[in-house]
Amino acid sequence: MSAIVPITNKKVIILTAPSGAGKSTITQFLLANYPNLAFSISATTRKPRGTEKDGVEYHFLSAAAFEGHIYQNDFLEYEMVYEGLYYGTLKSELNRLWQLGKTPVLDIDVKGAIKVQNVLGEDCLSIFIMPPSIEVLKERLLSRQTESAEAIQTRIDKAAYEIEFSSQFKAIVKNEVLEVACAEVAKLIENFIK
Ligand code: 5GP
Repeated sequence: MSAIVPITNKKVIILTAPSGAGKSTITQFLLANYPNLAFSISATTRKPRGTEKDGVEYHFLSAAAFEGHIYQNDFLEYEMVYEGLYYGTLKSELNRLWQLGKTPVLDIDVKGAIKVQNVLGEDCLSIFIMPPSIEVLKERLLSRQTESAEAIQTRIDKAAYEIEFSSQFKAIVKNEVLEVACAEVAKLIENFIK
């Protein structure tokens, strides 16, 4: 039987932003450069895209399985981020990473981020990644070529709405030049976890 390690550090880092603002790229940069950080694998009912694998980018669940977790109170937060599609942070995922001595990095939507911030308070560093403009956001989503025109429009409409909440987070980092944004986020995190 493995010993239960007391968890002394229950910090989390949240990166939130409208879709296409660059938060996934910034998250990848952080994970590659800070071995004490680890990606928090969310659960979702959306289908895998491209090369995505179950248990790597997400835990891909059926709606029934997701709703079962809601019923069991297994989520720290969950949202229907897009019409008919659930996304959520499992408490068990954060516990798994804390047990490994890592600080989880949550790449989640604005509403979910506000919920986690309300629950974890000072143990949570929330960073809002601001796109340079809605036009640039549209170009980025189009160049990604992973969504239909309709899905892109949905994301753009949502982005304009989400930007209105940016002041609720502990820091706002504008992603105009990726390297500059990465350095800014890294500095905030170094101060938070030291
Ligand atoms: P995508 O479908 O592009 O992977 O993600 C869509 C949106 O869902 C992104 O804004 C992403 O940050 C958000 N998201 C991913 N996981 C979670 C989660 O566990 N909870 C919430 N609230 N949003 C999430």
